[in-house]
Amino acid sequence: MARPGRHGFTLIEVVMFVWLLAWLVAGASWGGAQSPWLVVPGLLAGLLAAAVLPLVILVPLDLLERRRRPRLPPCFARGCRTYAWWWRDGREGWRCGCGDEYALRDGRFLRVVDGDVELRYMRRDARGRWVPDRE
Ligand SMILES: [Zn+2]
Repeated sequence: MARPGRHGFTLIEVVMFVWLLAWLVAGASWGGAQSPWLVVPGLLAGLLAAAVLPLVILVPLDLLERRRRPRLPPCFARGCRTYAWWWRDGREGWRCGCGDEYALRDGRFLRVVDGDVELRYMRRDARGRWVPDRE
């Protein structure tokens, strides 16, 4: 990606500036509509909203990303860890780089064979570490 010129702004800087400005204007005009004394508190409320709302949006996205990329044990066949997340028919799972498929359920990491047969492989112990799942 090309670096912006010395006089230019990156897209994210422009977006942040417009975002902040929009909330400041919204806050000030909302406050001003109530009373001239509320323009400054409105500005501050706009500043607060501009700061807090990205967190409200980004934290769930981060949690979703963590759900898609949990810390997984090495795969059964070759010990690789190059998992790709998939979602299919209301089920989620992970496909290893070597082609094996896995599912996570109730703290268990299951091998999925032939598309729908699930075999026990690893489970989390009380401290969250992966241990062999034997009955
Ligand atoms: Zn593998």
